[in-house]
Amino acid sequence: MNGFKEMNRNELAAQLQFFKDIGVESLAVGAVGEARERAASSGEAQARERAASNNDRPLVAHRAPLQDLESVRAEIGDCQRCKLAPKRTNIVFGSGNPSAELVFVGEAPGYDEDQQGLPFVGRAGQLLTKIIESINLKREDVYICNVLKCRPPENRNPEPDEVAACNPFLKKQLAAIRPKIVCCLGTFAAQTVMQTAAPISRLRGKFFDLDGIRVIATFHPAYLLRSPEKKREVWEDMKQIRAELFRLRS
Ligand code: URA
Repeated sequence: MNGFKEMNRNELAAQLQFFKDIGVESLAVGAVGEARERAASSGEAQARERAASNNDRPLVAHRAPLQDLESVRAEIGDCQRCKLAPKRTNIVFGSGNPSAELVFVGEAPGYDEDQQGLPFVGRAGQLLTKIIESINLKREDVYICNVLKCRPPENRNPEPDEVAACNPFLKKQLAAIRPKIVCCLGTFAAQTVMQTAAPISRLRGKFFDLDGIRVIATFHPAYLLRSPEKKREVWEDMKQIRAELFRLRS
């Protein structure tokens, strides 16, 4: 991932409109610029050297991946491992940068995703794109996937046998990508990835270390469509992600 994109006038206007929509009243413009300058002046090679010599930094990057994403997808094949298989149109494996520093994990495909075979392409997906862009990243910079790769009927909650069948592939995807940060979208992804029954209200907004990856949860974009007042908290979570990315890179 090459990091933070430059914005033209229209993009900047759209971005500011989004901030307004999500209730952000002030912006620490300097923080992004300063961090960008720091990153530029220190040089990528130096930053890599520092990261490599820093043994207590919790990056899975030190481990060689066992499988790449393509072979994880090949292993899934025409999956018949659980009862969702007969009703799906497409397996929704995931999309984005195979070496992303930041991975978003959702719950399961909905109607649009099932039709197109791509994650987060419906209304919630459009909001997720805006959320990603709010920290000056592009959708192509990050990787997006779900706990379940097939759509549950009527978008019902995933069931334990379905998670048991599918979760090993999420783990293999994360091992292949080796991101610095995983952001869980909503209760279900957070509880599955973090292996806890704690409610999202307790999980969101703080980082946990899991197998050398920094994991954070935030509200699911579909929930934000129903409860737009929660966007403010998502913005706080995204600022933390942006800061943590800078910290882990430097
Ligand atoms: N909701 C999800 O959790 N995942 C998707 O891919 C789309 C909607």
